Amino acid sequence: MPKKRRKRKRGNGPCQSKPPKAVQELAENYKCSHCNSRVEGIFRDSRGMQHLHIAHDETCPVLRGTVTDMHDAIRAANATGRVARVISGDSNGDAA
Ligand SMILES: [Zn+2]
Repeated sequence: MPKKRRKRKRGNGPCQSKPPKAVQELAENYKCSHCNSRVEGIFRDSRGMQHLHIAHDETCPVLRGTVTDMHDAIRAANATGRVARVISGDSNGDAA
């Protein structure tokens, strides 16, 4: 009997498998410069891109869209010591 191959699930939602180490390191190093946010999860979108889900405080200007957190993402990427590409986008994973 041939072995059935499991189809890899893609799409929004928590990673089914462990995210790449570089993404984990990015999550560990992310710190919002405006609030006491925390990374609540990592998910992979339908294109296979990894995203951090960051829970900002309700009063955080990043959450309200007043300021960007791009500098925080770049700082976290630099702290990993790896070469990184940072893509800004909305929570649906659509690049801006
Ligand atoms: Zn924040």
